[in-house]
Amino acid sequence: MYVVKCDSCGFVLYRGEEPKTVEAVLKMWGGICPKCMSPLERRPIKIAVGLLRARRRA
Ligand SMILES: [Zn+2]
Repeated sequence: MYVVKCDSCGFVLYRGEEPKTVEAVLKMWGGICPKCMSPLERRPIKIAVGLLRARRRA
């Protein structure tokens, strides 16, 4: 499982079995988080590959 989340609000920008580059995910949303409207290109976004459990504590 491949997951890309917004670093600001945790919105799941992409989730799927097929790996996507961060750039490709950003383009899907026009470079802006649809939930909190943060410019995604200016800040790191969380990328978890089978690490959702480890991330839940943070
Ligand atoms: Zn967001």
